[in-house]
Amino acid sequence: MFSWRTKWSILRALLTKSSPYYVQFYINGVCNLKCKQCNIVETNSGIGELSIPQMRMVAENIRKIGGGIVLLTGGEPFLRRDVDQVAKAFLDEGLDVRLQTAGIATLDQLQRCHDVGAKDINISLDSLESNKQDFINSVPGSWHKAIGAISRVGQVFSQGSAICSLGCVLSRFNYKEIPAILEFATEIGWDLSLVPVHIADSAEEMGFRSYDRDFIFAKSDMEDLERLVETLIDMKRQGYQLFDSERFLWSSVEFLRTGTPTWRHNGVCDSPNLYFAIRPNGDFSTCCDYTLDHPPSLLDPEFPRMYRDGTVKSAAKSTVESCAGCHYGSYPEVTISVRDRKAFLERARTSLSRRPAVKSLTEESLLALVGAIKDRYPEVYSTTWLPERAEQKLEMWKEPGQRRLLTIEDNATRKEEGRIRRRSLR
Ligand code: SF4
Repeated sequence: MFSWRTKWSILRALLTKSSPYYVQFYINGVCNLKCKQCNIVETNSGIGELSIPQMRMVAENIRKIGGGIVLLTGGEPFLRRDVDQVAKAFLDEGLDVRLQTAGIATLDQLQRCHDVGAKDINISLDSLESNKQDFINSVPGSWHKAIGAISRVGQVFSQGSAICSLGCVLSRFNYKEIPAILEFATEIGWDLSLVPVHIADSAEEMGFRSYDRDFIFAKSDMEDLERLVETLIDMKRQGYQLFDSERFLWSSVEFLRTGTPTWRHNGVCDSPNLYFAIRPNGDFSTCCDYTLDHPPSLLDPEFPRMYRDGTVKSAAKSTVESCAGCHYGSYPEVTISVRDRKAFLERARTSLSRRPAVKSLTEESLLALVGAIKDRYPEVYSTTWLPERAEQKLEMWKEPGQRRLLTIEDNATRKEEGRIRRRSLR
């Protein structure tokens, strides 16, 4: 359950449509993975990271402007050995913290995060097939690492009222798997949260979006996608733990079909009134996709004044007004929850409903469960349904020599696209 500060922030957002109750903080610009559908590390690498005293200044500023939930993401946040102290800086200000990892969080780190009061954690999982996820992440063994992390999170967070969720990017590679992944999440006491894939044209400079066309849906997939949403809504009504609201799911299909989302109010999003992002060096940004030319800094003691007197809003204005739109999970859900009464009630029901406890399971039990769930979906896991080129790439990925060729090709493409990871300054 949220802190009173977050509840107050949400209430104010409902009444005024202006209360930054959700802040995304990219605490570092380094990652052990090279996911094909994510560009954020290239955008945020090399600009430095904040020390713990600086984190405390950011946290104080967020508290002063009436913030609520702070997502601590990266990069890979658990590459910071002091991630528990980062979380504590925000928790000490009465803010709620959500942690994210792709799988490298150790038992010790998780325990320390738990001990300082963190109780909300999200792990990325895009597939129940190890080869596919490793290919998407461009790192062999990454799927097993994610399963290991799910086991460790379960050991630490199975006591009390923790919220654990799987974050899954819905793409051409995995859409038929989503009901199976939802079953997996529900059976272990976790939520599933979906984000439709964001792929830009290579000429566009977007902070988060990458350029890999293999992930894009074809027009002929749209009927399948609509059926998928109907199935997911049905499963959610039966008690499966899907975080996303019905409106979010339908609007995701529209976004994947047209590239234009339907969730924004009058075609403009609610950044920075309801949410915004912070880069690793403390710079304000509208969201993960843009870096501003002269951004206000969350390290500035004047930030609360600048937020209140409209200076921050002016810095964001031209970006939010010219943006064609996105469908990242949190921004639409925040806007929809605040502006759509039906979605708010759905969200409130989900938050207040009695949740099954997060299970503490060994890695072996999780692998056995994955196997059992895959057996229930032979049409997904025993047949070929991806485009030929995608199937070929997945087959190549299985064999180390071929995998090397794919990696060389991928690196060359990344270079062409200007996706450069700079060394961190710290
Ligand atoms: S709509 Fe545009 S500016 Fe607003 S959050 Fe999405 S990408 Fe950022």
